Amino acid sequence: MRVLICGAGIAGLALAGLLERDGHEVIVVERAPAPHGAGYMLDCQGPGFDAAESMGLLPELRERAFTLSELVHHDDEGTVTGRYADDRPGSDRILSMMRGELEDVLYRSMKTRVRFGRTVRAYDDLGDGLAVTLSDGGVERADLLVGADGIHSRIRTLAFGAAGHTLLDLGFHTAAYVFDDPETARALGNDLHMLEAPGRQVGAYPARDGRVATLFTHRTAPGAPLPADPRAELRKVYGGRGWLVPRLLDNCPAEPYYDRVAQIDLPAWSRGRVTLVGDACQAMSLLTGQGAGMALAAAHALAGELRAGGDLEGALARYERAVKPVAVRVQAEGRAMAEEFVPAS
Ligand SMILES: Cc1cc2nc3c(=O)[nH]c(=O)nc-3n(C[C@H](O)[C@H](O)[C@H](O)COP(=O)(O)OP(=O)(O)OC[C@H]3O[C@@H](n4cnc5c(N)ncnc54)[C@H](O)[C@@H]3O)c2cc1C
Repeated sequence: MRVLICGAGIAGLALAGLLERDGHEVIVVERAPAPHGAGYMLDCQGPGFDAAESMGLLPELRERAFTLSELVHHDDEGTVTGRYADDRPGSDRILSMMRGELEDVLYRSMKTRVRFGRTVRAYDDLGDGLAVTLSDGGVERADLLVGADGIHSRIRTLAFGAAGHTLLDLGFHTAAYVFDDPETARALGNDLHMLEAPGRQVGAYPARDGRVATLFTHRTAPGAPLPADPRAELRKVYGGRGWLVPRLLDNCPAEPYYDRVAQIDLPAWSRGRVTLVGDACQAMSLLTGQGAGMALAAAHALAGELRAGGDLEGALARYERAVKPVAVRVQAEGRAMAEEFVPAS
């Protein structure tokens, strides 16, 4: 088969690697001009860990993974108000790493080169295949088009229309970025540090090579628009806080990662020769800590069903039947957590 994957994130790269190993011809287009940077720390666990194991990626992933020793809470004066060791059960089957590192391992494990700086403009179903028009004007024939383009999926909109899904806004905005600051990175030691204030939370932890990684999450009215200037918004929301917050804000880049915390509910994941994988159809939000793992697991399941053969429609239906119930359960757990996450008072 000739498969065109839109999106070179975790789901897209994992799927591309698996499909090329099965002898499919794969094209990957990615809107970003180059691989993403470090991003933020995520945990790969549960079905995602199992998928990584079966893809033979564990040795490489273990090399990139790191373990933060403790969660350390601070108040605005910088006084430590609590320390908690990471005592999650089964921690030998949890890998914590920067999102960029996971993507890099996936990218290095495949031969197909990503066509960066491109997206899918439109597609036509010709009956025996698709004609996919790219943003660079090129037209590619494909037997299957996969939208692995994240929570704001363009392929989802092309296939199902803008009103074809529900975006469940959980009532938070979040931001993350990484910056060079060896002195602060040293001071953070090997711990995840947090400041919690009513309706907002700031995290900082050491990343590789003297860099500091940040994570900001604050409550918003559900459906509140995303700010035009995320850096200015972070200053507005967190500007009065103490501890390390002024230093973190001073190092905020012009365009940090900034998005709403949300989930996607989509009645059907495939339409004809078009299907979705990862956040594009099953976004569960950072509250669950399982979106990346589930994206890996979904890519693994989709590749497995395509390998099993039979007609394409049947394979896509089996993929959805296998993954969706798990995704829906994790989404429900995430929504339940939203009540207590970053308390309003
Ligand atoms: C702050 C934060 C912390 C998180 N922590 C965890 C965690 O601890 N554990 C966990 O498992 N998950 C975590 N997640 C969730 C996890 O990051 C996502 O669920 C995961 O990245 C989904 O992978 P994906 O490949 O489906 O989508 P994405 O990672 O969003 O990748 C989509 C890709 O498609 C590209 N793209 C987008 N639009 C287009 C387009 N129109 N054309 C072409 N390309 C396009 C994007 O540039 C990107 O490369 C966290 C998320 C956030 C924001």
